[in-house]
Amino acid sequence: MKIYNTLSKQKEEFVPLEEGKVKMYVCGPTVYNLIHIGNARPIIVFDTVRRYFEHKGFDVNFVQNFTDVDDKIINRAKEEGITTSEVTEKYIEEFFKDADGLNIKRATTHPKATEEIQGMIEMISTLIEKDFAYEKNGNVYFKTLNFEDYGKLSKKNIEDLVSGSRVAINEEKEDPMDFVLWKPKKPGEPAWESPWGEGRPGWHIECSVMSKKYLGEQIDIHAGGEDLIFPHHENEIAQSESANGKSFAKYWMHNGFLNIDNKKMSKSEGNFFTIRDINEKYSLDVLRFFMLSAHYRTPINFSDELMKASQTGLERIRTAVTNLKFRIEKANVEKMTEIEEHLLLTVASLVEKFEASMEDDFNTADAIASIFELVKFANLSSTESSTKEFSLKLVDTIIELCDIIGIKAEVKKELLDSDVDAMIQARQDARKNKDFAEADRIRVELLDKGIVLEDTREGVRWKRA
Ligand code: AMP
Ligand code: ZN
Repeated sequence: MKIYNTLSKQKEEFVPLEEGKVKMYVCGPTVYNLIHIGNARPIIVFDTVRRYFEHKGFDVNFVQNFTDVDDKIINRAKEEGITTSEVTEKYIEEFFKDADGLNIKRATTHPKATEEIQGMIEMISTLIEKDFAYEKNGNVYFKTLNFEDYGKLSKKNIEDLVSGSRVAINEEKEDPMDFVLWKPKKPGEPAWESPWGEGRPGWHIECSVMSKKYLGEQIDIHAGGEDLIFPHHENEIAQSESANGKSFAKYWMHNGFLNIDNKKMSKSEGNFFTIRDINEKYSLDVLRFFMLSAHYRTPINFSDELMKASQTGLERIRTAVTNLKFRIEKANVEKMTEIEEHLLLTVASLVEKFEASMEDDFNTADAIASIFELVKFANLSSTESSTKEFSLKLVDTIIELCDIIGIKAEVKKELLDSDVDAMIQARQDARKNKDFAEADRIRVELLDKGIVLEDTREGVRWKRA
C-alpha cells in the first residue's frame, strides 16, 4: 500500500511500526460552532483511510481530539453569556450529530484538551529542562532555533522564515520564530495552576501530549488539512521530537482544500456552508460520496452541480442494488450456471481494480469509477433468467465495495407503523390458516427490521428494538 508522505513529498510503501497495527492521530475541530463542509473533508477522508486499513485486517487505534480551550470559544461564551464548557459541550454534541449523518465511525479515543492539562504541563517542563523552551513573565515559549530539524515538514528553511516574518517582534521572545507553549491567565478566561503561574496552554502542545498518551511516542500516521502543515504540525514535530528524543509520526497525510469559487472555504472568509445547510437540500451520504469522488489531495471546487451529479451517481448505485434484490426474490434457479461463473471473472477484475486504486494513496476517485463499472456490468449481465446465486454475488460485491469507503449502497427503508400493522395482520391470517411456517417467516422478517412482537392475551403488541 502506498501513501503520499508530506515529509518526503513522495509516495512511500506503508510499513507499520508494529505488524498488523495502525496508530493514527487526526487533528480535530475547535468546538465553538457548527462545522462547515470544508471541515468535513478531513473527517470524511481520514475515516475512509481508517476503514480501508480495517478492511485490510489492521487493528486501527484512531485518535481525534477536541480543542476545547481557545480564544474563539472564549469569545463565543462571552457573546452568549454562557460558560466555555457550555459552549464546548453543545458543539461536541452537534459535531457527533453531523459525524453520524456522514457515517463517520467514532474514534477509539476522542480526548479533550481541557482534560489533559497535567500532561501538557509535564511535557512543557521536560522541554524547559532539555533547553528547548524558556519562561518569560508567565509565558513559556518553544526555542525554535534549538530544534535542528525545524521546517522539515513544511520544507521551510529557518532563515527564510525569520527574514520573511512580518510579525511585530515580540520583545519577550528570544527569536521571532519561537512559539507559545503556555500563556498567563487573562481576566475572565479559563485558567489552570502551573509552575509558571495560572494560565492556559498554547494550541500546538495539546496534540503532542494527547498523541503520546493515547498512542505512544511514535505513531504511524498523523493527519489533517493541508493548512495545518505550517505552523501546527511543524510545531507538533518540534515539541514531540525534542521532548521524547525520537522521531514522531512516520507518515504525514494532508487533505487538499474544499474551495468555493476557487477560494478556500473558511469561517473567517464567510464563504461557507455548514453541514446543516447542505443537509436541507441533500442527504449527508451524498456529501460523503461527493467528497470521495475526488482524490483527497486535490482541491475540490464545491458547486451545486457537482452535488447533483453525486446524488445521481449514488442513486444509480442504489437502483442497481434494488433491482438485483428484486431479481434475487424472483429467481427460479438457485445454482449459478457455468456462463455466469465465467461472467464473475469480470467482477473479480473490477474488485481488483478497486483495491489497486485504494492501495495507490487511497485514490477513492478511481475506486468509485470501478464501482460504477461494476454497476454497469451488473445492469447488463443480470437478467430475468439470472440465477439467484449470480445476482446475490453481484449485489453483495457492490454493497461490500461501497461499505469499504463508508457508503451505504443499500438503503433500508424505515418501516411505517401501518406497514408493521399490515404484516402483523398477515401473520395472524397465516396462523388462522395453520400456515405456521409463513407466520414464523413474517415474525423473523419483522425482527430483522428491528420489530419485536409480543403475543399477549389482548392480542399482538410490538415495539421497535
Ligand atoms: P479548523 O476548524 O479551521 O481548525 O479546521 C479543522 C480541520 O478542517 C483542519 O484539519 C483543517 O485543515 C480542515 N479544513 C478547514 N477548512 C478546510 C477546507 N476549506 N477544505 C479542507 N479542509 C479544511
Ligand atoms: Zn493537532
